[in-house]
Amino acid sequence: MGRADVLVIGAGINGLLTALELREAGAAVRVLDRGPAGRGASWAGGGILSPLHPWRYPDAVTALARWSQARWPALAAQLREASGVDPEWWRCGLLVLGLDGDERMAARGWCARHGLAALDADALPVPERARCLAGEVLEPEALWLPDIAQVRNPRLVRALRGATLAAGVELAEGRAAEALEVRGGRVQGVRTAAGREEAGAVLVTAGAWSAGLFPPGLRAPRVEPVRGQMLAWPPGAAALATIVLRGGHYLIPRRDGRILCGSTVERAGLDAATTEAGRAELARAAAALCPALGRAAPDAHWAGLRPAAPGGVPYIGPHPDAEGLFLNVGQYRNGVVLAPASARLAADCLLGRAPTLDPAPYAFDAPRPAEVDSV
Ligand SMILES: Cc1cc2nc3c(=O)[nH]c(=O)nc-3n(C[C@H](O)[C@H](O)[C@H](O)COP(=O)(O)OP(=O)(O)OC[C@H]3O[C@@H](n4cnc5c(N)ncnc54)[C@H](O)[C@@H]3O)c2cc1C
Repeated sequence: MGRADVLVIGAGINGLLTALELREAGAAVRVLDRGPAGRGASWAGGGILSPLHPWRYPDAVTALARWSQARWPALAAQLREASGVDPEWWRCGLLVLGLDGDERMAARGWCARHGLAALDADALPVPERARCLAGEVLEPEALWLPDIAQVRNPRLVRALRGATLAAGVELAEGRAAEALEVRGGRVQGVRTAAGREEAGAVLVTAGAWSAGLFPPGLRAPRVEPVRGQMLAWPPGAAALATIVLRGGHYLIPRRDGRILCGSTVERAGLDAATTEAGRAELARAAAALCPALGRAAPDAHWAGLRPAAPGGVPYIGPHPDAEGLFLNVGQYRNGVVLAPASARLAADCLLGRAPTLDPAPYAFDAPRPAEVDSV
């Protein structure tokens, strides 16, 4: 290969989409992934294109989410055309249950301020959309967000892979980066088992594994793995045409009738195994929301590792101690919805363009909430 302008480490949604942005701007881009592209969190997630209770998040997350939500329909169409794979963007809406009166009022105020439709569930075609619910739809505090959309993760990552290759991005799968190489305050490239890879700039998008790439003496971002398990039922198990959220659990209908239930939130290090306890938690939550799911057998169970920065506020931009080194990591539970804005902003920083959004909240040393789960 020729020497890339930018070497991207990690081919999840953040790596692939930033690579696409850079390539579209004319850069020579090479992406490394230690496995096949797009088999990390980006494959495992639910694809809900909104933070779960968006009003609970810091403004820094909201800014990325709102920009991204406006971009998603065109991006999904672009990826479908470029790759021939439909990521199934679908404005199915989100029904939020379990709010108390105060939170519901605060949520409606937040939605009004941010231009997001929020309606009473009983004013809408929710019963037909959510036929399987256990009478929950009558809950007076239910809030219906009709404009929330979803994508289907495995198809999304296939579409992204196809689109980046079609655009001329070089993709090296099965090639793990072992450590960043930094000398004299400048990144030189990365070390791999097959030798050193050099580039003018290096972008870290290795998700939950990112911190492990930083050698002693180079500050790593505070990104930790948080495991999430999902359970799914085949088409026909129940009738649902909107996402339903109660507390930390949700049901997601896919267009073909599959229903997913997510998700667990577990500290298990870098272990992405499923567990019986996780299965039981999700089966219970699904049956409580939709009794028909309690009577049907799930046909898939998987897990992924979310890259969690404190408060879910990602690191996007240059590393302050190593020239040429950039990051786009830490989106935690919202990496899919936030990806378009994250990738655009990361590309702006790498290319020295005027930033699309104020980059200050995502800077390496920006103040972040003390805890990962601050929301
Ligand atoms: C169960 C679950 C449900 C979720 N639901 C949603 C949701 O509904 N909506 C939403 O917006 N977000 C959701 N998320 C979060 C979202 O999936 C993640 O935030 C997002 O996918 C992170 O993308 P990424 O590209 O940063 O990381 P990843 O997709 O994990 O990609 C990182 C890549 O880096 C590669 N890599 C790691 N180490 C190395 C190395 N040393 N060398 C080379 N390559 C390396 C990995 O193989 C991987 O392909 C969910 C996550 C989970 C687990």
